[in-house]
Amino acid sequence: MNIIEPDQLYKYNDIINKSICLAEVYKNILKLETIGISHDNRNIIMLKLGRCKKNILITAGVHGREYVNSAVLLRIIENYCSLMTLGKLDFKDCGIIFVPVLNPDGYVIATEGFKGIKDKKLRCYCKSMNEKSFMWKWNARAVDINRNFISSMYEKKVHTGDVNSENETKAFITLVQYEDTIGYLDIHSRGNVIYYYRNAMGKDYNTTQKNIARRLAEITGYNIMPPSLEIDSNDTGGNTVHYYSEYINKPALTLETIDDNAAFPLSYTYAGHVYYQIRYVPLEFLQLCRYNASC
Ligand SMILES: [Zn+2]
Repeated sequence: MNIIEPDQLYKYNDIINKSICLAEVYKNILKLETIGISHDNRNIIMLKLGRCKKNILITAGVHGREYVNSAVLLRIIENYCSLMTLGKLDFKDCGIIFVPVLNPDGYVIATEGFKGIKDKKLRCYCKSMNEKSFMWKWNARAVDINRNFISSMYEKKVHTGDVNSENETKAFITLVQYEDTIGYLDIHSRGNVIYYYRNAMGKDYNTTQKNIARRLAEITGYNIMPPSLEIDSNDTGGNTVHYYSEYINKPALTLETIDDNAAFPLSYTYAGHVYYQIRYVPLEFLQLCRYNASC
């Protein structure tokens, strides 16, 4: 029997408890660490698979309402752990760092409603936004983490916060400054597409990005978004991938699972299909980044 069956409701506490369970069962190859604390005092965790210095990084749960991917990542971790234990999978000198939920407070709001926010001031502030809880993308301070990062396209607007102001943003930056990573993938849930293009980066960087996107498109069946749609018109940058590209200068792509017209709240029944589509993506991305880094 699997520890993770993603086709069901996983509250944030379940994500934590299942992660602890995975790290206990596979303690020789999987390590759980806290990388930061959210504004409503929740642990932001990472699961590090393999005992290596060089890693790729994969995040999900940047937007609260896109919660389906988090349990899918845990299922992928369990599968890889199981294969490694059986001697059927070996990352050799590299590993994978997973952050299943970068924005735990947003995850809680989207899955449990505003009552899930413990701090009364934050709860009242969130409610005052007049947004439905299941539509919530932001953190507990109503900031979109994916518009908060320092980068060439960051621009202060409503819900962007001051640059790098949020605990979740700081946790990510500290993680990538501290860990030796060779590539980064951020998993969202809008449209079965892949974003690769970086206006702020040079031709060589974007050529590598496009080659990686093409391979990931082959194994997922997702479409590649053209450079002109790097961000929507009238939108701003400051995404996790913008920061990673500009400050770490290694491959960083966004993968969007689930149909564009899927209604919110997203049904957990999407999880099985998403797992099927992306279960080999971390492995393939690791190989592509390793090739790019010549290691
Ligand atoms: Zn998103």
